[in-house]
Amino acid sequence: MEVLEAWEKIVGSENLFTQKEITEAAATATFATQQRVLAIIRPSDRLQVQECVKIANQYHTPIYPISGGKNWGLGSRVPPQDHSVIIDLGRLNQIVDYNEKLAYITVEPGVTFRQVYEYLQAVKSNLFVSVIGGSPEASVIGNTLERGDGFGPYGDRFAYVCGLEVVLPTGECIHTGFSRFTNTKTTHVARWGVGPYLDGIFTQSNLGIVTQMTVWLLPIPTYYQTFSCTIEENAGLEALLDRVQTLILQGTIRDTCLSIWNCYKVIAKQGRFPWKITQGKTPLSLKELKGTEPWFANGSLFASSEAEGLAQRQIVTAVLDDQVQQLVFSETEQETQGFGAPHDENTRSTYWRKQTPIPTDINPDRDSCGVIWLCPLFPFDGKQIVEALEMIISTIKLYQFEPNLGMVCISGRSIRMFVAIMYDRQVAGEDEKAIACHDRLLELLLQAGYIPDRLGIQSMNALPSGNDDYGEFMRHLKQHLDPQNILAPGRYDCF
Ligand SMILES: Cc1cc2nc3c(=O)[nH]c(=O)nc-3n(C[C@H](O)[C@H](O)[C@H](O)COP(=O)(O)OP(=O)(O)OC[C@H]3O[C@@H](n4cnc5c(N)ncnc54)[C@H](O)[C@@H]3O)c2cc1C
Repeated sequence: MEVLEAWEKIVGSENLFTQKEITEAAATATFATQQRVLAIIRPSDRLQVQECVKIANQYHTPIYPISGGKNWGLGSRVPPQDHSVIIDLGRLNQIVDYNEKLAYITVEPGVTFRQVYEYLQAVKSNLFVSVIGGSPEASVIGNTLERGDGFGPYGDRFAYVCGLEVVLPTGECIHTGFSRFTNTKTTHVARWGVGPYLDGIFTQSNLGIVTQMTVWLLPIPTYYQTFSCTIEENAGLEALLDRVQTLILQGTIRDTCLSIWNCYKVIAKQGRFPWKITQGKTPLSLKELKGTEPWFANGSLFASSEAEGLAQRQIVTAVLDDQVQQLVFSETEQETQGFGAPHDENTRSTYWRKQTPIPTDINPDRDSCGVIWLCPLFPFDGKQIVEALEMIISTIKLYQFEPNLGMVCISGRSIRMFVAIMYDRQVAGEDEKAIACHDRLLELLLQAGYIPDRLGIQSMNALPSGNDDYGEFMRHLKQHLDPQNILAPGRYDCF
């Protein structure tokens, strides 16, 4: 094909892949998908990316950028449109800039969470990047463009980045914020720049390929402690949510510093499906086995002195103590978990229902681990959340999966929930059952007014259309920026 020859001239034959086993692996996610991948190209720098995009336009060939390719549960590397070519940005893996005083790092798309952590360790930095529960090899830029979340006060990742370098779908290049000005001193320290703020349109969209971004880092706190507690029943959960909401709104617990997981999520992180106990039957019901399905809350308190930390502890204890069980504070966790140290503990849970050993190189796509994520957003209101949970839990049980649920307190105003449907793709019929469960859940959530704030390729076109001119505006924008519709068609075209 001529288009492949044109790309080969840019990236070299060693960076163009059309072999069946490679393209089929790239077309495999953690749930059933139909899309085929035509080829994978791996440019080495921004100029090559621009050339590749121009060629895609010339030959009307759809391209789909990936940075880490670890979007597990939401589509992995699979493009939303059939017969797309993947532009894998993994070779653009430079840490371009770093500043300890102003607390930022500037990275290319191939830079992973592990790489940032190791770099900061090597330069003996007192700063850390908020790290995800997903793969250490995931991309910091990839996660930000999904508007992902991580650990610690800067966990709402997109709120703490600036200065994007973006290759537009025509192959042109722009710099956002102050970075378009030569000789500017404020590229890395200001989000808004001057004039219209553009960065948002390059997240959860198909309007550009981001080739560089500045990510703000947080100082490791002088005094740090974690706390955890248990809530035995959903009724207790409602009161807990309302109480922690006030603590977050007033700033005692900072944004994205409290997560609440149910028992199924906790045991999936710690172990495997207990095949012996259930005598091979699914789903696991802890209600039947133990008589209870508790919730576990885990929080972090960041303080600039011991006195401040102890005062925080007192406030949290006074508000929560009579409402929860086993409220425990700990000051030692930083040694074991580290700040910004990515780990595989959570991703191991993708093997929950597999009966084969968990490999050291975790790869749920390759190993037929079934994982479908659904991410509804809720107002931070205990009653509404618990009501929605009852609907979510009963629906998942109806389809015979364990309700594997986690919540992160994005701010004092909203909570993001992670619903994970986990199964073994090698068991006949499970792929179909899992997607049916996901679709039904999504339908019920939409009916109840809880629209997900992040989508996988399984749900890109599942949202209702808006009741204003938003869709028309977005179509105009896409048409203007990408007249040939070559960049990631179908990605967040949810209008
Ligand atoms: C057990 C488990 C735990 C997880 N925990 C978390 C968590 O705590 N927080 C969280 O946010 N997610 C989590 N995830 C989801 C997912 O693993 C992460 O979001 C991960 O960061 C996505 O992979 P990536 O960074 O390699 O992005 P990629 O796969 O590279 O990209 C993700 C998306 O962004 C687009 N994109 C990527 N790079 C570019 C670019 N340069 N320009 C334009 N578009 C681009 C791609 O087209 C793709 O659609 C978890 C998943 C699992 C299975």
